[in-house]
Amino acid sequence: MARLVLKFGGTSVADPDRIKNVAAKVKREVEQGHECCVVVSAMAGETNRLVDFCRRIDPMHDQREYDVVVATGEQVTIGLAAMALQAIGVPSRSYCGWQVPILTNEAFGKARIERIDGQSLLGEMATGVVPVVAGFQGLGPGSRVATLGRGGSDTSAVALAAALGADRCDIYTDVDGVYTADPRIVKTARKLDRITYEEMLELASLGAKVLQTRSVELAMNHRVRVQVLSSFDRALGSELPGTLVVDEEEIVEKHIVSGVTYAPDEAKVTLRQVADRPGVAASIFGALADAGINVDMIVQNVSTDAKSTDMTFTIPRGDLPRAMPVLEGLKKEIGHTAIVPDQNVTKVSVVGVGMRSHAGVARTMFKALADKNINVEVISTSEIKISVLIAAEYTELAVRALHTAFDLDAA
Ligand code: ADP
Ligand code: ASP
Ligand code: MG
Repeated sequence: MARLVLKFGGTSVADPDRIKNVAAKVKREVEQGHECCVVVSAMAGETNRLVDFCRRIDPMHDQREYDVVVATGEQVTIGLAAMALQAIGVPSRSYCGWQVPILTNEAFGKARIERIDGQSLLGEMATGVVPVVAGFQGLGPGSRVATLGRGGSDTSAVALAAALGADRCDIYTDVDGVYTADPRIVKTARKLDRITYEEMLELASLGAKVLQTRSVELAMNHRVRVQVLSSFDRALGSELPGTLVVDEEEIVEKHIVSGVTYAPDEAKVTLRQVADRPGVAASIFGALADAGINVDMIVQNVSTDAKSTDMTFTIPRGDLPRAMPVLEGLKKEIGHTAIVPDQNVTKVSVVGVGMRSHAGVARTMFKALADKNINVEVISTSEIKISVLIAAEYTELAVRALHTAFDLDAA
């Protein structure tokens, strides 16, 4: 008998029939003798609808009220899923985040889970009840509802798996595993049987939304076994049909590059003729950090007058409206003559633990892009990834070309 956390994403609970399908799957796991805790997302499209309401009321809305609104999607699906389970003879009870409780920090809108008290859920499970927990939400300071950022139900599931001491966390979604590239973009993408935590962490943070980045971080830190699989296939999680996220030692055949991914929601900002003296970069990036804006890629070029530099960096596209006044405010101190934002960019990355021990990955990457006449604007690297910033219109072309160049295409 195993203890399992089963998470079902938006498309898997998109309507009552799909929720019945979820319940049937859970029932089969229960019948095999497993102790199950279920986590569900809101119905597909629902969170977008709620986010749009907030934006239409006020683009600069209060984050606490945003959380109150967007957390409601999951309250609907936990109730429906618990009902569907009861209807087929599986005792079940729904739990909002605050009822567990799943306690978070004060970063409303993208809160981090700080602690989960799993006692009440474990008590329910011990008596054969299947708890259905709302993903994406928790209880923040001041007894306020908090949400975990888009895609946060994955994180709820992994955090619960860690808190409950689960043997595995199955993430049921609309694809049957983690692929070498987004299978919706690259038709020749291959499903991976296994992927390392580190690679999955890079892929997620570089745009592969199949798992929320924070969920992979938690899985890695708490050594939670995670499987990504399809809720539309007949196979059950316990048959291990999906992709397992595991330690590097568990992978026999190591690829140089395991996947290609892209992040379309980047913005590039160039500050022209920034004073070239110590402390300038600290002022710019310090001010952005104080505004809660994450800077990703950075390049600094000597500008034509040789006395100043052009500073280029990328930030999340959604943060651009908040970044602009911060950068305007620095003009006096830093002396830049212009702020040039560009939203038509995409970051494309190749990821693989094999890069640690293989030279030539950068060469293959740049040659593949050059052969397609794609200009590289910014580059960043880490031990197991190389990322380039390119014009957004070439995204799909670049992803496909890199997929082929690194021999990832399915035979
Ligand atoms: P859910 O609603 O179940 O959480 P998401 O839409 O968040 O599902 O994530 C699943 C999607 O992730 C897939 O439909 C797929 O298009 C996308 N995706 C991006 N990169 C990958 C990848 N490398 N492997 C698998 N899926 C990927
Ligand atoms: N419903 C939330 C979202 O759409 C959380 C999730 O699905 O993981 O972002
Ligand atoms: Mg998701």
